[in-house]
Amino acid sequence: MPTDQPGSMLEVRGLNKVYAGRGEPVEAIADLSFRVAPGELVCVVGPSGAGKTTLLRCLAGLLPATAGDIELAGSPVTEPPPGMAVVLQEYGRSLFPWMTVEQNVRLPLAEKGVPKAERTRLVAEALEAVGLADVPRSYPWQLSGGMQQRVAIARAAAYEPQVLLMDEPFAAVDAQTRFELEDLVRALWTRLGVTVVFVTHDIDEAIYLGERVLVLSARPTVLLEDVRVDLGPVRDQLETRGAPEFARLRTHVYELVQQAKKGVRSLADARLTHAG
Ligand code: ADP
Repeated sequence: MPTDQPGSMLEVRGLNKVYAGRGEPVEAIADLSFRVAPGELVCVVGPSGAGKTTLLRCLAGLLPATAGDIELAGSPVTEPPPGMAVVLQEYGRSLFPWMTVEQNVRLPLAEKGVPKAERTRLVAEALEAVGLADVPRSYPWQLSGGMQQRVAIARAAAYEPQVLLMDEPFAAVDAQTRFELEDLVRALWTRLGVTVVFVTHDIDEAIYLGERVLVLSARPTVLLEDVRVDLGPVRDQLETRGAPEFARLRTHVYELVQQAKKGVRSLADARLTHAG
């Protein structure tokens, strides 16, 4: 995908985030800089507590940066920008239980000012794309966890964001559903050409989905390595995961994360047996 394309959809420069509550300040992000090109699908991995969710919340404009800049298509992100949609792990909390599937997906479109007829078309298309065209009048609580997460993804897709941010969106579903939802994300990404930033602690998932994987150090986080994933545009759960290149990337990223857990904060310090 167009990683060499000029211009950035997302640009992060010198991002630093310190939580300053009543207790000791917690530095979650030390210093992060990276760019995401328009239409790229970038995954972020790192040890638990590294600062992945903090990064995503800063990108989404939900959390103010302590220092540094975040730009979406050249404009500074200081509050949740209209061009972004976010899908979180807790689908149960992100959908309104008193609204039908169709109403949940439709809601942000009204806020965005999309004309009524257009809203109906976008909602129908999004529900079709996630395989939920036959349950528009169901309520979220009548659906399985995987289906509820599909509703959340449909809502984000219907909104036609410039950037789709996803934070561990499949951590709470079973393994089989998780594979299906991963393929759904790849399919939507291909179809919509949207820029995606996907946070996960699952190394295999990051490699399977991403065109690039940003590996973060432990807290306070820095970028340990920006790993390019050359697994082609079409991924297949069996073939891709069985490919030698997949195994090589998995070993490499796994070792990086192990090093990160031990406190390694730069590639120069990392002692990798299978680097490259
Ligand atoms: P990850 O998503 O990689 O597991 P987080 O971004 O959730 O990591 O957290 C990074 C660090 O920041 C952790 O040490 C966590 O305890 C701390 N942290 C997260 N949120 C807050 C908060 N609101 N106040 C203080 N510390 C926080």
